[in-house]
Amino acid sequence: MKILVLNCGSSSLKYQLIDMDNEAVLAKGLCERIGIEGSKLTHKPEGKDKYEVESPMPDHKVAVQMVMDALVDPVHGVIADTKEISAVGHRVLHAGQVYSDSIVVNEDVKRVIRECFDLGPLHNPANLIGIEACEAAMPGVPNVAVFDTAFGQGMEEKAYMYAIPREYYEKYGIRRYGFHGTSHSFVSKEALKFGELDPKAGKVIVCHLGNGASISASIGGKCVDTSMGLTPLEGLIMGTRSGDVDPAVIQSICNKEGKTVNEVLDILNKKSGILGMSGISSDFRDVQKAQGEGDHNAHVAIEAFIYRVAKYIGAYVAAMNGVDAIAFTAGVGENDKPIRGAVCSYLGYLGVEIDDEKNKVRGERTMISTPASKVKVMVIPTNEELAIARETLALV
Ligand code: ADP
Repeated sequence: MKILVLNCGSSSLKYQLIDMDNEAVLAKGLCERIGIEGSKLTHKPEGKDKYEVESPMPDHKVAVQMVMDALVDPVHGVIADTKEISAVGHRVLHAGQVYSDSIVVNEDVKRVIRECFDLGPLHNPANLIGIEACEAAMPGVPNVAVFDTAFGQGMEEKAYMYAIPREYYEKYGIRRYGFHGTSHSFVSKEALKFGELDPKAGKVIVCHLGNGASISASIGGKCVDTSMGLTPLEGLIMGTRSGDVDPAVIQSICNKEGKTVNEVLDILNKKSGILGMSGISSDFRDVQKAQGEGDHNAHVAIEAFIYRVAKYIGAYVAAMNGVDAIAFTAGVGENDKPIRGAVCSYLGYLGVEIDDEKNKVRGERTMISTPASKVKVMVIPTNEELAIARETLALV
Protein backbone atom coordinates (compact mmCIF):
# COMPACT_ATOMS: atom_id res chain seq x y z
CA MET A 1 0.00 0.00 0.00
CA LYS A 2 1.34 3.43 -0.97
CA ILE A 3 0.69 6.40 1.30
CA LEU A 4 1.32 10.03 0.47
CA VAL A 5 2.38 12.22 3.41
CA LEU A 6 1.77 15.96 3.13
CA ASN A 7 3.04 18.72 5.39
CA CYS A 8 1.59 22.06 4.28
CA GLY A 9 3.19 25.15 5.82
CA SER A 10 2.06 28.71 5.26
CA SER A 11 4.03 29.04 1.99
CA SER A 12 5.46 25.55 1.54
CA LEU A 13 4.42 21.96 1.03
CA LYS A 14 6.65 18.98 1.84
CA TYR A 15 5.69 15.51 0.68
CA GLN A 16 6.81 11.89 0.72
CA LEU A 17 5.32 8.91 -1.05
CA ILE A 18 5.99 5.83 1.08
CA ASP A 19 5.51 2.18 0.17
CA MET A 20 4.18 0.78 3.45
CA ASP A 21 4.98 -2.83 2.47
CA ASN A 22 8.63 -2.10 3.32
CA GLU A 23 8.38 1.53 4.58
CA ALA A 24 10.58 2.63 1.65
CA VAL A 25 10.40 6.25 0.47
CA LEU A 26 9.55 6.19 -3.27
CA ALA A 27 9.81 9.95 -3.75
CA LYS A 28 9.98 13.07 -1.68
CA GLY A 29 9.96 16.75 -2.43
CA LEU A 30 9.15 20.30 -1.58
CA CYS A 31 7.06 23.12 -3.04
CA GLU A 32 8.46 26.48 -1.99
CA ARG A 33 7.23 30.06 -2.20
CA ILE A 34 3.56 29.12 -2.62
CA GLY A 35 1.51 32.29 -3.08
CA ILE A 36 4.56 34.45 -3.74
CA GLU A 37 6.76 35.07 -6.74
CA GLY A 38 9.36 32.44 -7.67
CA SER A 39 7.41 29.26 -6.75
CA LYS A 40 9.41 26.08 -7.24
CA LEU A 41 8.85 22.34 -6.96
CA THR A 42 11.84 20.14 -6.16
CA HIS A 43 11.04 16.45 -6.66
CA LYS A 44 13.44 13.68 -5.65
CA PRO A 45 12.38 10.29 -7.00
CA GLU A 46 14.21 7.34 -5.42
CA GLY A 47 16.96 6.06 -7.72
CA LYS A 48 16.46 8.85 -10.27
CA ASP A 49 17.80 12.35 -10.71
CA LYS A 50 16.34 15.35 -8.89
CA TYR A 51 13.72 17.21 -10.93
CA GLU A 52 12.89 20.91 -10.51
CA VAL A 53 9.95 22.85 -11.91
CA GLU A 54 9.69 26.61 -11.61
CA SER A 55 6.10 27.59 -12.26
CA PRO A 56 3.62 29.88 -10.49
CA MET A 57 1.81 28.29 -7.51
CA PRO A 58 -0.81 30.82 -6.46
CA ASP A 59 -2.13 28.48 -3.76
CA HIS A 60 -1.70 25.02 -2.19
CA LYS A 61 -4.31 23.56 -4.53
CA VAL A 62 -2.05 24.22 -7.52
CA ALA A 63 0.94 22.91 -5.55
CA VAL A 64 -0.86 19.62 -4.77
CA GLN A 65 -1.69 19.22 -8.45
CA MET A 66 1.98 19.78 -9.37
CA VAL A 67 3.01 17.13 -6.85
CA MET A 68 0.53 14.67 -8.43
CA ASP A 69 1.86 15.49 -11.89
CA ALA A 70 5.45 14.92 -10.74
CA LEU A 71 4.57 11.58 -9.10
CA VAL A 72 3.04 10.22 -12.33
CA ASP A 73 5.43 11.95 -14.74
CA PRO A 74 6.59 9.41 -17.36
CA VAL A 75 10.26 10.34 -16.84
CA HIS A 76 10.56 11.61 -13.27
CA GLY A 77 7.56 9.87 -11.71
CA VAL A 78 7.45 6.79 -9.48
CA ILE A 79 3.88 5.58 -10.07
CA ALA A 80 1.80 5.09 -13.22
CA ASP A 81 -1.43 6.54 -11.84
CA THR A 82 -2.48 8.49 -8.74
CA LYS A 83 -4.97 5.61 -8.15
CA GLU A 84 -1.98 3.75 -6.70
CA ILE A 85 -2.11 6.14 -3.72
CA SER A 86 -4.28 4.40 -1.10
CA ALA A 87 -4.44 7.21 1.44
CA VAL A 88 -2.98 10.61 2.31
CA GLY A 89 -1.64 11.45 5.77
CA HIS A 90 -1.61 15.16 6.60
CA ARG A 91 0.43 16.82 9.29
CA VAL A 92 -2.05 19.19 10.93
CA LEU A 93 -0.85 21.65 13.55
CA HIS A 94 -3.73 22.21 15.91
CA ALA A 95 -6.81 20.33 17.03
CA GLY A 96 -7.34 22.35 20.20
CA GLN A 97 -8.69 20.00 22.87
CA VAL A 98 -10.87 18.02 20.52
CA TYR A 99 -8.64 15.21 19.21
CA SER A 100 -5.97 13.33 21.13
CA ASP A 101 -5.42 10.89 18.25
CA SER A 102 -5.15 10.91 14.50
CA ILE A 103 -8.43 10.66 12.65
CA VAL A 104 -9.83 10.01 9.15
CA VAL A 105 -10.97 13.38 7.80
CA ASN A 106 -14.71 14.05 7.47
CA GLU A 107 -16.72 17.28 7.57
CA ASP A 108 -16.57 17.38 11.40
CA VAL A 109 -12.78 17.09 11.40
CA LYS A 110 -12.55 19.91 8.85
CA ARG A 111 -14.79 22.03 11.05
CA VAL A 112 -12.49 21.47 14.04
CA ILE A 113 -9.40 22.34 11.99
CA ARG A 114 -11.20 25.54 10.89
CA GLU A 115 -12.26 26.36 14.45
CA CYS A 116 -8.60 26.17 15.48
CA PHE A 117 -7.44 28.75 12.90
CA ASP A 118 -6.85 31.31 15.64
CA LEU A 119 -4.71 28.85 17.64
CA GLY A 120 -2.61 27.98 14.56
CA PRO A 121 -3.01 30.99 12.28
CA LEU A 122 -0.10 30.17 9.94
CA HIS A 123 -0.51 26.40 9.67
CA ASN A 124 -4.12 25.33 10.16
CA PRO A 125 -5.46 27.23 7.10
CA ALA A 126 -2.70 25.74 4.92
CA ASN A 127 -3.33 22.27 6.38
CA LEU A 128 -7.03 22.51 5.52
CA ILE A 129 -6.35 23.73 1.99
CA GLY A 130 -3.99 20.75 1.55
CA ILE A 131 -6.72 18.34 2.67
CA GLU A 132 -9.32 19.91 0.40
CA ALA A 133 -6.91 19.93 -2.54
CA CYS A 134 -6.35 16.18 -2.07
CA GLU A 135 -10.09 15.56 -1.83
CA ALA A 136 -10.52 17.35 -5.16
CA ALA A 137 -7.53 15.70 -6.86
CA MET A 138 -8.21 12.16 -5.57
CA PRO A 139 -11.92 11.70 -4.88
CA GLY A 140 -12.65 8.72 -2.64
CA VAL A 141 -9.08 8.41 -1.32
CA PRO A 142 -9.12 8.73 2.49
CA ASN A 143 -7.30 11.65 4.10
CA VAL A 144 -6.01 11.25 7.64
CA ALA A 145 -5.20 14.18 9.93
CA VAL A 146 -2.23 13.62 12.25
CA PHE A 147 -2.17 16.44 14.79
CA ASP A 148 0.96 18.02 16.22
CA THR A 149 -0.99 18.78 19.40
CA ALA A 150 -2.36 15.24 19.87
CA PHE A 151 0.54 13.99 22.02
CA GLY A 152 0.23 16.94 24.44
CA GLN A 153 -3.40 16.03 25.08
CA GLY A 154 -2.02 13.32 27.38
CA MET A 155 -1.02 15.99 29.92
CA GLU A 156 -3.01 16.29 33.13
CA GLU A 157 -4.66 19.56 34.08
CA LYS A 158 -1.91 20.39 36.59
CA ALA A 159 0.59 20.32 33.71
CA TYR A 160 -1.40 22.11 31.03
CA MET A 161 -3.12 24.88 32.98
CA TYR A 162 -1.52 28.33 33.17
CA ALA A 163 -1.85 30.04 36.56
CA ILE A 164 -4.02 32.82 35.16
CA PRO A 165 -7.74 33.48 35.72
CA ARG A 166 -9.59 30.32 34.70
CA GLU A 167 -12.08 32.26 32.60
CA TYR A 168 -9.47 32.63 29.81
CA TYR A 169 -9.15 28.86 29.57
CA GLU A 170 -12.90 28.45 29.61
CA LYS A 171 -13.62 31.22 27.10
CA TYR A 172 -10.67 30.88 24.71
CA GLY A 173 -8.95 27.55 25.41
CA ILE A 174 -5.81 29.30 26.67
CA ARG A 175 -3.70 26.45 28.06
CA ARG A 176 -0.52 24.59 27.26
CA TYR A 177 -0.88 22.33 24.18
CA GLY A 178 2.66 21.30 23.22
CA PHE A 179 3.96 20.86 19.68
CA HIS A 180 6.36 18.53 17.79
CA GLY A 181 3.87 15.91 19.03
CA THR A 182 4.39 13.51 16.13
CA SER A 183 8.12 13.50 16.77
CA HIS A 184 7.84 13.11 20.56
CA SER A 185 5.30 10.32 20.18
CA PHE A 186 7.42 8.48 17.57
CA VAL A 187 10.75 8.86 19.38
CA SER A 188 9.37 8.01 22.83
CA LYS A 189 7.87 4.76 21.51
CA GLU A 190 11.06 3.90 19.62
CA ALA A 191 13.04 4.61 22.82
CA LEU A 192 10.86 2.17 24.79
CA LYS A 193 11.57 -0.52 22.18
CA PHE A 194 15.25 0.25 21.70
CA GLY A 195 15.86 0.46 25.45
CA GLU A 196 13.84 -2.75 26.05
CA LEU A 197 11.75 -0.88 28.61
CA ASP A 198 8.31 -1.70 29.93
CA PRO A 199 6.01 -0.53 27.08
CA LYS A 200 3.36 0.59 29.58
CA ALA A 201 5.48 2.03 32.40
CA GLY A 202 8.83 3.05 30.87
CA LYS A 203 9.72 6.66 31.74
CA VAL A 204 11.25 8.52 28.80
CA ILE A 205 12.49 12.07 28.24
CA VAL A 206 12.78 13.07 24.57
CA CYS A 207 14.98 16.06 23.70
CA HIS A 208 13.91 17.26 20.23
CA LEU A 209 16.73 19.71 19.58
CA GLY A 210 16.56 21.34 16.16
CA ASN A 211 15.95 24.84 14.93
CA GLY A 212 12.68 24.45 16.81
CA ALA A 213 13.40 22.71 20.10
CA SER A 214 11.20 21.06 22.70
CA ILE A 215 11.41 18.39 25.34
CA SER A 216 8.86 15.92 26.65
CA ALA A 217 8.34 13.54 29.53
CA SER A 218 6.22 10.46 28.91
CA ILE A 219 5.31 7.26 30.69
CA GLY A 220 4.56 4.28 28.45
CA GLY A 221 4.44 6.67 25.48
CA LYS A 222 1.76 8.89 27.14
CA CYS A 223 2.73 12.53 27.55
CA VAL A 224 3.20 13.73 31.13
CA ASP A 225 4.60 17.13 30.19
CA THR A 226 6.12 18.91 27.23
CA SER A 227 7.87 22.24 27.02
CA MET A 228 5.99 24.15 24.30
CA GLY A 229 2.81 25.87 25.42
CA LEU A 230 -0.11 27.73 23.89
CA THR A 231 2.28 28.34 20.99
CA PRO A 232 5.72 26.91 20.17
CA LEU A 233 7.37 29.91 21.86
CA GLU A 234 7.50 28.46 25.38
CA GLY A 235 10.25 26.27 26.77
CA LEU A 236 13.77 25.68 25.49
CA ILE A 237 16.00 28.24 23.82
CA MET A 238 15.67 27.64 20.05
CA GLY A 239 17.29 28.81 16.83
CA THR A 240 15.31 32.06 16.75
CA ARG A 241 12.80 31.66 19.62
CA SER A 242 13.49 32.83 23.15
CA GLY A 243 11.69 30.01 24.95
CA ASP A 244 10.69 30.88 28.54
CA VAL A 245 10.88 34.56 29.50
CA ASP A 246 9.21 36.62 32.21
CA PRO A 247 6.14 38.10 30.42
CA ALA A 248 7.12 41.48 31.92
CA VAL A 249 10.03 41.48 29.44
CA ILE A 250 7.45 42.10 26.72
CA GLN A 251 5.98 45.09 28.57
CA SER A 252 9.43 46.47 29.23
CA ILE A 253 10.54 46.31 25.58
CA CYS A 254 7.18 47.73 24.43
CA ASN A 255 7.55 50.71 26.75
CA LYS A 256 11.20 51.40 26.11
CA GLU A 257 11.15 50.92 22.32
CA GLY A 258 7.61 52.08 21.58
CA LYS A 259 6.71 48.74 20.07
CA THR A 260 3.40 46.88 20.08
CA VAL A 261 2.94 43.50 21.78
CA ASN A 262 2.73 41.85 18.36
CA GLU A 263 6.02 43.42 17.31
CA VAL A 264 7.77 42.19 20.45
CA LEU A 265 6.29 38.70 20.03
CA ASP A 266 7.66 38.71 16.51
CA ILE A 267 11.10 39.49 17.98
CA LEU A 268 10.73 36.69 20.54
CA ASN A 269 9.76 34.26 17.78
CA LYS A 270 12.10 35.26 14.97
CA LYS A 271 15.04 37.26 16.28
CA SER A 272 15.78 35.73 19.67
CA GLY A 273 17.16 32.39 20.84
CA ILE A 274 20.60 31.38 19.61
CA LEU A 275 20.39 34.06 16.90
CA GLY A 276 19.50 36.88 19.27
CA MET A 277 21.93 35.89 22.01
CA SER A 278 24.90 35.37 19.70
CA GLY A 279 24.10 38.08 17.16
CA ILE A 280 25.60 35.67 14.60
CA SER A 281 23.21 33.03 13.32
CA SER A 282 20.29 30.76 14.20
CA ASP A 283 22.32 27.77 12.99
CA PHE A 284 24.14 25.96 15.76
CA ARG A 285 27.10 25.13 13.54
CA ASP A 286 27.80 28.81 12.79
CA VAL A 287 27.50 29.77 16.46
CA GLN A 288 29.73 26.88 17.59
CA LYS A 289 32.35 27.92 15.05
CA ALA A 290 32.35 31.45 16.49
CA GLN A 291 32.49 29.98 20.00
CA GLY A 292 35.57 28.01 18.95
CA GLU A 293 37.13 31.27 17.77
CA GLY A 294 36.61 32.79 21.22
CA ASP A 295 33.42 34.81 20.65
CA HIS A 296 31.96 35.46 24.13
CA ASN A 297 28.33 35.97 23.07
CA ALA A 298 28.37 32.79 20.98
CA HIS A 299 29.79 30.93 24.00
CA VAL A 300 27.04 32.22 26.30
CA ALA A 301 24.31 31.35 23.76
CA ILE A 302 25.47 27.73 23.49
CA GLU A 303 26.02 27.39 27.26
CA ALA A 304 22.56 28.84 27.98
CA PHE A 305 20.95 26.47 25.49
CA ILE A 306 22.62 23.44 27.15
CA TYR A 307 21.81 24.72 30.66
CA ARG A 308 18.12 25.15 29.81
CA VAL A 309 17.89 21.59 28.40
CA ALA A 310 19.55 20.20 31.55
CA LYS A 311 17.17 22.19 33.80
CA TYR A 312 14.13 20.82 31.95
CA ILE A 313 15.48 17.27 32.25
CA GLY A 314 15.78 17.78 36.01
CA ALA A 315 12.22 19.09 36.16
CA TYR A 316 10.88 16.17 34.14
CA VAL A 317 12.68 13.60 36.27
CA ALA A 318 10.82 15.13 39.22
CA ALA A 319 7.52 15.19 37.28
CA MET A 320 7.81 11.42 36.61
CA ASN A 321 9.57 10.55 39.88
CA GLY A 322 12.37 8.97 37.85
CA VAL A 323 13.55 8.35 34.30
CA ASP A 324 14.57 5.18 32.45
CA ALA A 325 15.72 6.66 29.16
CA ILE A 326 16.72 10.00 27.65
CA ALA A 327 16.56 10.20 23.85
CA PHE A 328 18.14 12.90 21.69
CA THR A 329 16.63 13.68 18.31
CA ALA A 330 16.35 16.30 15.47
CA GLY A 331 19.22 18.22 13.79
CA VAL A 332 21.24 19.05 16.89
CA GLY A 333 20.15 16.07 18.99
CA GLU A 334 21.04 13.57 16.27
CA ASN A 335 24.33 15.11 15.18
CA ASP A 336 25.93 17.22 17.84
CA LYS A 337 28.27 15.24 20.09
CA PRO A 338 29.50 18.22 22.18
CA ILE A 339 25.97 19.43 22.98
CA ARG A 340 24.77 15.94 23.94
CA GLY A 341 27.89 15.44 26.04
CA ALA A 342 27.52 18.81 27.76
CA VAL A 343 23.83 18.22 28.60
CA CYS A 344 24.70 14.82 30.07
CA SER A 345 27.54 16.30 32.11
CA TYR A 346 24.81 17.93 34.27
CA LEU A 347 23.21 14.54 34.91
CA GLY A 348 25.83 12.72 36.97
CA TYR A 349 23.48 12.82 39.98
CA LEU A 350 21.11 10.54 38.03
CA GLY A 351 23.86 8.01 37.44
CA VAL A 352 24.13 8.96 33.75
CA GLU A 353 27.37 7.75 32.19
CA ILE A 354 28.14 8.45 28.54
CA ASP A 355 30.44 6.36 26.34
CA ASP A 356 32.51 9.01 24.63
CA GLU A 357 33.23 6.82 21.58
CA LYS A 358 29.57 5.92 21.04
CA ASN A 359 28.56 9.56 21.51
CA LYS A 360 30.44 10.37 18.27
CA VAL A 361 27.48 9.00 16.30
CA ARG A 362 25.63 11.13 13.74
CA GLY A 363 22.05 10.48 12.68
CA GLU A 364 21.94 6.82 13.64
CA ARG A 365 20.02 5.00 16.32
CA THR A 366 22.66 4.38 19.00
CA MET A 367 22.88 3.74 22.73
CA ILE A 368 25.41 6.36 23.83
CA SER A 369 25.38 5.51 27.55
CA THR A 370 27.66 2.87 29.09
CA PRO A 371 26.20 -0.47 30.24
CA ALA A 372 26.73 0.74 33.84
CA SER A 373 24.74 3.96 33.32
CA LYS A 374 21.62 4.07 35.53
CA VAL A 375 19.68 5.81 32.73
CA LYS A 376 19.80 4.66 29.11
CA VAL A 377 20.79 7.57 26.91
CA MET A 378 20.24 7.20 23.19
CA VAL A 379 20.22 8.93 19.85
CA ILE A 380 17.04 8.17 17.92
CA PRO A 381 16.54 9.91 14.57
CA THR A 382 13.06 11.31 14.33
CA ASN A 383 11.01 10.51 11.25
CA GLU A 384 7.80 12.48 11.30
CA GLU A 385 6.80 11.44 7.79
CA LEU A 386 7.08 7.74 8.60
CA ALA A 387 5.19 8.31 11.86
CA ILE A 388 2.39 10.03 9.91
CA ALA A 389 2.35 7.25 7.31
CA ARG A 390 2.13 4.57 10.05
CA GLU A 391 -0.75 6.40 11.77
CA THR A 392 -2.49 6.72 8.40
CA LEU A 393 -2.03 3.04 7.59
CA ALA A 394 -3.39 2.05 11.01
CA LEU A 395 -6.57 4.07 10.38
CA VAL A 396 -7.30 3.03 6.79
P1 ADP B 1 14.01 22.17 12.02
O1 ADP B 1 13.43 20.89 11.47
O2 ADP B 1 13.40 22.59 13.34
O3 ADP B 1 14.15 23.29 11.04
P2 ADP B 1 16.46 20.61 12.29
O4 ADP B 1 15.96 19.49 13.14
O5 ADP B 1 16.75 20.34 10.87
O6 ADP B 1 15.52 21.87 12.44
O7 ADP B 1 17.78 21.19 13.00
C1 ADP B 1 18.49 22.26 12.48
C2 ADP B 1 19.68 22.54 13.39
O8 ADP B 1 20.47 21.35 13.48
C3 ADP B 1 20.61 23.64 12.88
O9 ADP B 1 20.85 24.58 13.88
C4 ADP B 1 21.88 22.90 12.54
O10 ADP B 1 23.01 23.66 12.90
C5 ADP B 1 21.83 21.66 13.38
N1 ADP B 1 22.55 20.59 12.71
C6 ADP B 1 22.22 19.96 11.57
N2 ADP B 1 23.19 19.09 11.22
C7 ADP B 1 24.16 19.19 12.14
C8 ADP B 1 25.42 18.56 12.34
N3 ADP B 1 25.88 17.65 11.49
N4 ADP B 1 26.14 18.92 13.42
C9 ADP B 1 25.69 19.83 14.29
N5 ADP B 1 24.50 20.46 14.14
C10 ADP B 1 23.76 20.14 13.10
